[in-house]
Amino acid sequence: MHNLQIHAARKIVLKPLGALTPKPDEVLIRLGAGGICGSDLHYYFEGKNGSFVVREPMTPGHEASGVLEKVGSNVRGLEAGMKVAVNPSHPCGICPACRSGRENLCERMLFLGSASVFPHAQGMFADLFILGARQVTPVDAGVSLGELAFAEPLAVGLHAVQRAGGNLSGKRVLVTGAGTIGSLCALAAKLAGAAEVTVCDVLDRPLTIARQAGADHTFRSDTADAKDYAGRFDIALEAAGHPRALTTCLAGVKRGGVIVQVGTLPNEDLPFPANSIMAREIDYRGAFRWGIEFDWAVDYLASGKVNVKPLLTKQFALADAAAAFDLAADKTRATKVQVMGAGIPIEA
Ligand SMILES: [Zn+2]
Ligand SMILES: [Zn+2]
Repeated sequence: MHNLQIHAARKIVLKPLGALTPKPDEVLIRLGAGGICGSDLHYYFEGKNGSFVVREPMTPGHEASGVLEKVGSNVRGLEAGMKVAVNPSHPCGICPACRSGRENLCERMLFLGSASVFPHAQGMFADLFILGARQVTPVDAGVSLGELAFAEPLAVGLHAVQRAGGNLSGKRVLVTGAGTIGSLCALAAKLAGAAEVTVCDVLDRPLTIARQAGADHTFRSDTADAKDYAGRFDIALEAAGHPRALTTCLAGVKRGGVIVQVGTLPNEDLPFPANSIMAREIDYRGAFRWGIEFDWAVDYLASGKVNVKPLLTKQFALADAAAAFDLAADKTRATKVQVMGAGIPIEA
């Protein structure tokens, strides 16, 4: 039993775990599947994620499913052996953002697997870990641990759609970026009733995956002529985190359209397209993580209403995490790569 720690760029240490006993309101969780996300890759390859630098050994991982090992004495409704989705979000509950029902904007958020705070918020890439019982949602359906670990990134897509208006009935939607988040934004848009969802990227492989996942149309944004898609879309969801993708969104949406920024753009040297937004009355909105959409995502996965299987490229034992990170970083070969807890069978 090990806890995976990043000590510095490309330096992983698998630290043996001692005995772990949950307090009365806590549960001990065996990692089922843990999805490797862009932020985890930044921490591993660079020792930092934007301005968040790894200053002490940090366990990454915020996309996880698990199996309950032990439950604390006060915990009701949960028992050992249950398959659970794990919510990595710990909003404070009392700041103005939390009080207004927008917990994802919490001023004192503790989000697992993040160096945005010090001491760091330790993540879930460990064979066993303890969390408050309220962080887990049991599922009894036939959903696999690997699929269930998509609850977090699916929630990101569902939240982006909420920011785009929620009800997308009859809308034409463009998604820039065909990675995990882009594909899940596309799935979320279809769930919300979109008439047509188009996904673009600069690589062929992710576009193939996006079509398998349910996108209606795809195109290569690097070779397409903007004239062919200009003004075609009511809504654009920017999930590539690249300035050129934002340019594609601006060209793609019609006058009075909506752009939702989901991806993280570079901090520096970003020309802001204020006049295009002004003159065409574009609504340019941010979408950051999610709130109640996590619970919706768990329901959609458990009921089989969304199929995330095309997005799951490969699973590795936690002990092989370095190989998992290498594959996850290669977008020509991988969409979602997961690490699996000790004793959990590899499914993909
Ligand atoms: Zn993520
Ligand atoms: Zn708060």
